[in-house]
Amino acid sequence: MAAPPIQSLVLSFEDARRVVEDHASRLSSRTTETAPLLHAAGRVLAESITADRDIPPFPRSTRDGYAVRAADLAKLPASLKVIGEIKAGPQHLPSTLNPGQAFAIMTGAPVPQGADAVVMVEYTSSQKADSVEIKKSVEPGENIVAQGAEAKHGNLLLDRGTRLNQAAIALAASVGRSRLQVFVRPQIAVLTTGDEIVEVDAEIGPTQIRNSNGYSLSVQIQQAGGEPVLLPIAPDEPRRLRQLIEEGLQSDLLIMTGGVSMGRYDLVEQVLSELQAEFFFTGAKIQPGRPVVFGRISSCGAGVPARPGAQAPPQHKYFFGLPGNPVSTMVTFELFARPVLEALAGASPSQLTFLHARLKSEIRVKPGLTRFLPAILSGQCEDSQVELVPWQGSGDIAAQARSNCYIVVPPDREHIAAGDWTAVTFLT
Ligand code: AMP
Ligand code: MG
Repeated sequence: MAAPPIQSLVLSFEDARRVVEDHASRLSSRTTETAPLLHAAGRVLAESITADRDIPPFPRSTRDGYAVRAADLAKLPASLKVIGEIKAGPQHLPSTLNPGQAFAIMTGAPVPQGADAVVMVEYTSSQKADSVEIKKSVEPGENIVAQGAEAKHGNLLLDRGTRLNQAAIALAASVGRSRLQVFVRPQIAVLTTGDEIVEVDAEIGPTQIRNSNGYSLSVQIQQAGGEPVLLPIAPDEPRRLRQLIEEGLQSDLLIMTGGVSMGRYDLVEQVLSELQAEFFFTGAKIQPGRPVVFGRISSCGAGVPARPGAQAPPQHKYFFGLPGNPVSTMVTFELFARPVLEALAGASPSQLTFLHARLKSEIRVKPGLTRFLPAILSGQCEDSQVELVPWQGSGDIAAQARSNCYIVVPPDREHIAAGDWTAVTFLT
């Protein structure tokens, strides 16, 4: 079938992001597997985790001190009879506390019945071994976490779709889960294009460029919950490029780099069009990364069977054509490819987040593009400062490696003065 003409469709950053999020919201993962707890770190939870008992399972002292009845401290100093000591994990639950009595108690220990507060050890002075003088009153409930205050038996703790970070793993451990159901990682094909691109350890000619994008993308794909499938480097030649694109379409998602600009040898869109691709955008008004392409190909249209091990084939295979300049590749992956990948990984959608910091030196740009410029955020707690990393444009990986964030310049701004608050994002 002849390739339909490619309509240029350049969207604003917000519109392009919305298109991606909209498609991502209709994707999901169905394939799950069981993973030992530590292997589940970084994976996406495929079940919901509930509390196997009240948390905490008993009223817990948050301090070292004395378990008391707050009413006993109405008059100060108060002298109370110490009737025992409760440390964390006692063999038996402590007996009941009666008026005029106190228990010495340690952090994490169960507060006895009858006690309604814990006085910190700093506010006491022990005169005799079996009595304590207390110099400060307490409110009922002070220094105690009530049984079930953090969660009641059966409450939902972690929802399906949660990315399992250290806190989530700790929570699963705390409710006795040594194995978790997680989603199988989607396979993400990475296709690097360009006649000048060679593999990292190949002997290199003076005008050749080593493939760095395949590596940055593989790292980003893993961080986003996918499993990279690296294809051979595609030359700027339509037949071989088409073969490799077809191979890439066997995975759950195809991410290409290079060959999406307006040059004579930028053939990616042409070949995708021959495969009857549907394009959602062929550019976004951003810098870096303007020529970014997003679309899909119906699986039958491309005539490609699913790669063994790939998840149940959806009707469409999505693809991204990311610009080849290394900074553009990294930025456009985060801005556009990540939401689709995360959805295929079964994860609940994550939002882009922004914070504000004072600009150290002014920025002047031409208006019209949303810019994500590599920058360094520094400063103290109440005085965060940010400045652009000097760079030679979107090919400058060294500058990006020196940066730790991006300054976001909205499309209507030409100038941001030194000292102004400016938006910053981390893009992961
Ligand atoms: P392109 O998007 O194909 O026009 O490429 C833009 C620039 O990115 C060119 O300078 C390419 O040499 C460079 N480039 C493309 N692909 C890669 C890659 N995989 N690794 C490093 N640089 C690349
Ligand atoms: Mg190229």
